Amino acid sequence: MTQHPAHSGIAPVGTVHLVGAGPGDPDLLTLRAARLIGSARVIVHDGLVDPAILALARDDARLISVAKSRARHTMAQDDINALLVREALAGHDLVRLKGGDPFVFGRGGEEAEACRAAGVPVTVVPGISAAMGAAAASGIALTHRDAASTVSFVAGQCKGLSDQDWTGLAGKGRTLVIYMGLATAAAITDKLIADGLSPEVPVAVIENATRPGMRVLRGVLAGLDTIVSRHRVKSPALIIIGEVAAREHAGQLAHIAESVL
Ligand code: SAH
Repeated sequence: MTQHPAHSGIAPVGTVHLVGAGPGDPDLLTLRAARLIGSARVIVHDGLVDPAILALARDDARLISVAKSRARHTMAQDDINALLVREALAGHDLVRLKGGDPFVFGRGGEEAEACRAAGVPVTVVPGISAAMGAAAASGIALTHRDAASTVSFVAGQCKGLSDQDWTGLAGKGRTLVIYMGLATAAAITDKLIADGLSPEVPVAVIENATRPGMRVLRGVLAGLDTIVSRHRVKSPALIIIGEVAAREHAGQLAHIAESVL
């Protein structure tokens, strides 16, 4: 706990630890994340955090879910920010546990700003982002001297998709990783083809990367929407677009389930 000038003499202010929980497999937590999860009295977590990771919490820890999904918004971001600040000002150190890395499409930046603005100290513990987890688990190297020398991460959710400028992010020698792109797979395909990408560029869809039931589905850009619908791919899933998606790295493919198109 840290004394903050605005509160000294009253209650000590708690610290908010923004902790990356990685893509799912508890073995992929950092040691620091595991230590904080195992000692926290209060854990505020997303829906994406795997139950096996929450199981590492103390028996007497207070677990607060702020699960968000496209269909179900249990808590608005402002309310989450307010919750973190309120708990910390009440003197509780807390772990704010997020899937993957807190600063990759995790809104960790907004939460850190809200805490700092309220005089609440924040630490950030990086996590293995879904792209790294999916790459390792599927055997798809995101860069490869023969196939790709750049890699970009984009968010494919509806809001703002058409405003996003992805030109130059995909194509020869480049890998594009799309988070949250399932529902907009058809629009993503149209957007990339309109930007000049070949409909034949390889794609891979990785569902539940590093988790039980992981699936890897491969095809080409023109068939992306069909892959998603025919195989009823569910969130969480990542889309990888580029030549690397067609390469297999022998020996790493511990649990490839399917290959299509
Ligand atoms: N901060 C997270 C991303 C949050 S956005 C990170 O760094 O990974 C949520 C999106 O991440 C999901 O919609 C999905 O596209 C992706 N994602 C998270 N976990 C995943 C997993 N185990 N397998 C595939 N995609 C995953």
